Amino acid sequence: NALIEARDVTLAFGETPALRGAGLAVAAGEIVAVMGPSGSGKSTLLHCLAGILSPDTGEVHFDGCRIDTLSEPERSALRRERFGFVFQFGQLVPELTAEENVALPLLLNGTRRAAALAEARPWFARLGLDGMERRRSGELSGGQAQRVALARGLVARPQVLFADEPTGALDSLTGEQVMDLLVGSARDQGTTVVLVTHEARVAAYADREVVVRDGRATSLTGDRIAS
Ligand code: ADP
Ligand code: ADP
Repeated sequence: NALIEARDVTLAFGETPALRGAGLAVAAGEIVAVMGPSGSGKSTLLHCLAGILSPDTGEVHFDGCRIDTLSEPERSALRRERFGFVFQFGQLVPELTAEENVALPLLLNGTRRAAALAEARPWFARLGLDGMERRRSGELSGGQAQRVALARGLVARPQVLFADEPTGALDSLTGEQVMDLLVGSARDQGTTVVLVTHEARVAAYADREVVVRDGRATSLTGDRIAS
């Protein structure tokens, strides 16, 4: 049984169909790479699984509950409390220091500032970012900023980490360092990962690869879960 699952999902942006009957089931603790050409619907599928978008038809289930029919405030609370996110261009808040960026999900969940910063700090040593705590995003390299974004995605111990092209803006060596840390940290804390990438090298870190073509998903290495 799946922790998170999209069933026969369709979604169009106006006249443009993005998903046409896509299904994907991810087991707890699994790391799944979603691959496929540009424009095939990978990000849209991730956004449906993460409760950012609601599909036109089909269903999305998380942890035994149907989530696509929840209200936007309910989905927002679900994202805040259960999910973590890492996007292609870090998207750190430029006005905040690195440690405040990492602490942000905890602050948004009501953790007090001192406690949130105390939980954020160990991530700097863990991710090779010692001394970067007080820097702002403009004072970090691309790889450092993406590691800060990764710490922010994981600090609240989400059940699922959604990573959309997390290495897309990095050179291949820096990208591999980020992937080593992403996969290592997720496995350490038992976080399930849905990883969108168009790079085979990045997908190779996953337990299983799924290919999206023309808005439909196919598992490459055999679904362990019937969907
Ligand atoms: P991928 O992540 O595989 O590159 P996307 O899921 O981003 O693909 O996009 C799937 C299709 O939906 C593409 O045709 C894309 O142009 C379209 N699309 C995605 N987001 C939007 C949007 N916000 N408005 C209009 N069209 C969109
Ligand atoms: P793309 O996959 O096209 O690069 P982005 O990474 O820019 O897309 O983000 C896709 C969408 O997700 C945007 O509309 C953005 O506002 C939204 N988004 C980004 N972070 C979060 C979050 N933590 N919670 C909810 N929605 C988010």
